[in-house]
Amino acid sequence: MTTATQNDTTSASAAGDKSAPLLEVEHLKTYFPVKRGLMKRTVGYVKAVDDVSFTVGHGETLGLVGESGCGKTTVGRTLLRLIPATGGSVRFDGTDVFDADRQTMQRLRRGMQIIFQDPVGSLNPRMTVGRIVGEPIQVHGLASGSALTDRVADLLNRVGLSPDYATRYPHEFSGGQRQRIGIARALGLKPKFIVCDEPVSALDVSIQSQVLNLLNDLQDEFGLAYLFVAHNLAVVEHFSDRVAVMYLGRIVEVADRDTLYADPRHPYTHALLSAVPLPKPIVEKKRIVLQGEVPSPSNPPSGCHFHPRCPLARTLAENAGGSDTVQIRINGESHTLMAKCVNESPTLDRIGGEDASHCAACHFSEEAKR
Ligand code: SF4
Repeated sequence: MTTATQNDTTSASAAGDKSAPLLEVEHLKTYFPVKRGLMKRTVGYVKAVDDVSFTVGHGETLGLVGESGCGKTTVGRTLLRLIPATGGSVRFDGTDVFDADRQTMQRLRRGMQIIFQDPVGSLNPRMTVGRIVGEPIQVHGLASGSALTDRVADLLNRVGLSPDYATRYPHEFSGGQRQRIGIARALGLKPKFIVCDEPVSALDVSIQSQVLNLLNDLQDEFGLAYLFVAHNLAVVEHFSDRVAVMYLGRIVEVADRDTLYADPRHPYTHALLSAVPLPKPIVEKKRIVLQGEVPSPSNPPSGCHFHPRCPLARTLAENAGGSDTVQIRINGESHTLMAKCVNESPTLDRIGGEDASHCAACHFSEEAKR
């Protein structure tokens, strides 16, 4: 196995070169200071995103999944510069995003948009739908007057809403319709890449599929690339070309969709997949219930961050010799785990050779086979 410092390619992308990745994220870090006392001194950091690397190709969807608080939303916002990065780099269409001056950033923002999770909170309740959708187009000087009105009508049409809705306010619409308004606003600048930040998790199940189908259709029509942030692996399976799994600020496994679902190699991915309901269960699937809460990213566990909750580290320790294991206390109880899991941080290694795109950060990825 070789360590994957970047999941696909290390070649720099150039604008217009569709064989190069559209988005290249390398060693991204987002730390939030923890301040205490009267003087508000920094006493530590919450490492929300800790050395994350991945790429997204033109027209590709990368699913980014994990439990609440794993840092997936922060990744999406940091790469768009909505949150300042602590370290690392992001290149979009050949341009360094973090080094971009104001003018360059304005150009980049046309190409990179976001759809928020909360369709209520993300729309200004005092603005009409027409103003909400048209505002970015106007700010970027792309249309005004009747041309802007026509463009807004066209966008509303495209997301399945009547152009007549342009004069109404957000509170007059259902959750699904408000999410469509958010999508129309994101499309206004003709982006190449959209961060979809849990775009359907606040919607009724019956509406979720409509919005997902709409995003799929728009991707086909406009060649959009998505970073699809979600906690639901069932949603990601039907929507993504590749999937990256995050735990406590790091990517612990990444692979093309079919490989990840058929041959997961990280115990955390196993646990997430065991919770996905099967439409027609042929074999009974055993649910893996993880013990304990997600640890605090301000004080992550030693070695592999997943070790206090890892079922595999316990099972392997039961069959291993004493020198390979260690006794530790977790939530007041004594447990025997593999010593390597507690002492050494695993790297994101390629599984199956130099060219393999399947990577997992587990010392025992071979034993983690189903
Ligand atoms: Fe579990 Fe050890 Fe693998 Fe971490 S390195 S996922 S603790 S088996």
